[in-house]
Amino acid sequence: MAKRLEGKTIVVTGASSGIGKSTAKEFARTSPKNLKLIITARRIDTLKEVAAEIKQEVGDGVQVLPVKLDVSNPEEINNFVSSLPEEFREIDVLVNNAGLVKGVAQAPEIATEDIKVMFDTNVTGLINMTQAILPIFKKRPEGGRGDIINIGSIAGREPYSGGSIYCATKAAVRSFTDAMRKELIATRIRVIEIDPGQVETEFSVVRFNGDKSKADAVYKGVEPLTGDDIAEIVVFAAGRRENVVIADTLVFPSHQA
Ligand code: NDP
Repeated sequence: MAKRLEGKTIVVTGASSGIGKSTAKEFARTSPKNLKLIITARRIDTLKEVAAEIKQEVGDGVQVLPVKLDVSNPEEINNFVSSLPEEFREIDVLVNNAGLVKGVAQAPEIATEDIKVMFDTNVTGLINMTQAILPIFKKRPEGGRGDIINIGSIAGREPYSGGSIYCATKAAVRSFTDAMRKELIATRIRVIEIDPGQVETEFSVVRFNGDKSKADAVYKGVEPLTGDDIAEIVVFAAGRRENVVIADTLVFPSHQA
C-alpha cells in the first residue's frame, strides 16, 4: 500500500482536529516517502501544530503544507488551487472531511443561520471543493485519475430526532457522491464515501454547544470510535490498486444501536 501512495499529493479538509487530523497523520505514517500533504481548515495555528507533529513523527520524507481554507467560502475555494505552490498542484487525492453540526434541536427551533452554516459547510463546501479539484484529475489519461473521498455519516442513512438538518446535509452528501460516481464511471477517478458512526472528537462536544455531560451521555453503553479508526479506512481505500473502488463503507462501534 505504501508504494501505491508514494509520491502522491493529498488534500485533507478539516485537518485541524478529529478525523481529518488523524487522516493526515495516517497518510504520513503509511507512506512517509515523497508524500505531499496539504492540510486545510480555518484554524491555521492549529494546522501548523499538526504539521509540526507530523514532521516530528515521520521526518522530512513528507512535505506538509498547512493552508487556511474555509470551505463555506466559495471565493477561498476558487483561489485555493492557484494559490498553492507549483509543486503541490498535481493533486491525487481529495479527502472532503470538513464538517460540523450546530446544536441538537427539533426542526422548528433551528435558527436559519445554523441551517445555512451546516449546508454551506457540509454540502456546498464539499461540492465546491470537488469542482475545484476535478479539472486536475480530468487532465490525466483514460478520462482522468484521482480519488475523491467524502466523509459522510451514518446520519445520512438513519436520521435521528434532533438532528434533522445535519442528517439532511449528510443525505445530500450521499446522493452527490453516488451521482458523481456514475458521472465518472468511464474514468479512473474513484469516488468513495466513508460513513462513520459515533466517533469521539471535538464534534462530540461542539454539537451540544460545549456541554460535556450531554456529549458523554450519547456514548452510554458504547465505546466510541477514534479519529484514527476512520483514518485507517480512508488510507486503506486510497491505497488500493487503481481498479479497486471501496465505494461505500459504513463504520460504527460495537454496541451502537
Ligand atoms: P471535528 O469537530 O473534530 O473536526 C471537524 C473539522 O472540520 C475541523 O478540522 C474543523 O476545523 C473543520 N471545519 C469545520 N467547519 C469548517 C469550514 N467551514 N471550513 C473548513 N474546515 C471546517 O469533527 P470530526 O472529526 O468528528 O468530523 C469530521 C467529519 O466527520 C465531519 O464531516 C463530520 O460530519 C463527520 N462525522 C463525524 C462523526 C462523529 O461522531 N464525530 C460521525 C459521522 C461523521 P476548523 O474549525 O479549524 O475550521
